[in-house]
Amino acid sequence: MIYTDTRDSSVKVDFKTAVMNGMNQATGGLYIPTSFPKLDPAFINKNPTPSFREIALQMAKPYVEGEIPEEDLIGIIQDAYPFSPKVAPLDSVSYVLELFHGPTCAFKDFGARFMARTMSYFNRNESTPLHILVATSGDTGSAVGSAFHNVPGLDVTILYPEGKISPLQEKQLSTFTGNVRALKVKGTFDDCQKLVKTAFTDTELRGKLRLSSANSINISRLLPQSFYYMYAALIANNRAAMDNKIHSPAIIMVVPSGNFGNLTSGLIAKEMGAPIAGFVAATNTNRTIPDWIATGDYNARPSIETYANAMDVGAPSNYERIKSMYTLDQVREMFASYWLDNDGILKAIEACNKKTGYIIDPHGAIGYKAWEDIKNGGIADLVAGVKGDFNKPGLTPNVPSWAQRVIDKKAVGVILETASPAKFGQVVTDAIGKEPPIPARLEEVMRLQDRAIPMNNDYNQFKEWLLANL
Ligand SMILES: *Cc1c(COP(=O)(O)O)cnc(C)c1O
Repeated sequence: MIYTDTRDSSVKVDFKTAVMNGMNQATGGLYIPTSFPKLDPAFINKNPTPSFREIALQMAKPYVEGEIPEEDLIGIIQDAYPFSPKVAPLDSVSYVLELFHGPTCAFKDFGARFMARTMSYFNRNESTPLHILVATSGDTGSAVGSAFHNVPGLDVTILYPEGKISPLQEKQLSTFTGNVRALKVKGTFDDCQKLVKTAFTDTELRGKLRLSSANSINISRLLPQSFYYMYAALIANNRAAMDNKIHSPAIIMVVPSGNFGNLTSGLIAKEMGAPIAGFVAATNTNRTIPDWIATGDYNARPSIETYANAMDVGAPSNYERIKSMYTLDQVREMFASYWLDNDGILKAIEACNKKTGYIIDPHGAIGYKAWEDIKNGGIADLVAGVKGDFNKPGLTPNVPSWAQRVIDKKAVGVILETASPAKFGQVVTDAIGKEPPIPARLEEVMRLQDRAIPMNNDYNQFKEWLLANL
């Protein structure tokens, strides 16, 4: 597969270059495949639905062709995914796609684990380790630390702002041994990011250590997220006839979004032939994309803190990929778009639990509420020309191409549950008056010894530490 760049279509690189560079330093653009090959319809139409790992293999193949032989790719996928996504019915026209069954209980495990193994593969003939530096405000660091832990040839240093992440997040970052360690920096997330960025531009340091990043914009994190969209769409397609008496339903993927990497992966799955009719782009108060869809003006802005804090992104990087794939009109036809404030998040967690018994996390709750509104008259209103004020929580005024299917009760929603509610225990407890159950692997990590290394917000100290310890 040839990869190009969102800012310069004359750029042509292979998969290894795209993975190892992360982004194109020369243009500031993001790598994107030049085509999205369709899966064989005979594979897509198989009944019963192929397993998650079979789907992963078939979808990954064209993107690594000529660079990773099939037997090695099978090994990467088996090692990356000892767990699967799960599709749980919520009501007669709604499913939850549970993406939190990996080691850190959030969907980022799917992308980070594939990235770690492909980087390790491409580093296999090097005599020295590749040092990954990551600055994190919480969730990314734990997914990356866990994904790279004990992966050969790779070494990870995570920087986080001391006292500014939750106790559970801190345990998830700071308790690794071996090739992964955490530095607790006396500063903010921005200070951590600056230390990392300075290291990347330090030619003396780079002369001594091979450095790389594990950024969420890396194409090797985006591609594997498309696997679970295909999987969920095929499951929903096969099950809707039985569960809901709907044959060939319009399947709508409802995606709680921040940086829009997850949603972009959904677009890739649709391009590859997944039976997906459309998407709901659901955000918290960081509503840069809903505003763009409503007005046509894209205005990146500083992020605002919310209860769904993994989605607190005011300048979503993957806007650039979406824009390179589709026109605004196409986006408005494919997407409904929705945003919700903190008060709405609490009410949605409570309503979901009351109505269905399901305990949903603050991120998934935004998706839940968006789909509730859509199927309970929100889309019918849009079709009838009744449009709400998009400056208030709710839907943007565009009418997606699948609107009539919802009104005709021929659509099912698949709500992506991006994290376990136990990761956001306090918000969930405030909303429903009881604590969500804690998965054993989260309880275990809380008992491990904290090994974080204190670090001042001082580049020279950081550099000396790297040179002395890596
Ligand atoms: C990262 C994250 C998101 C947002 O995903 P994007 O790809 O940035 O849109 C949503 N929910 C959770 C729990 C996350 O960790």
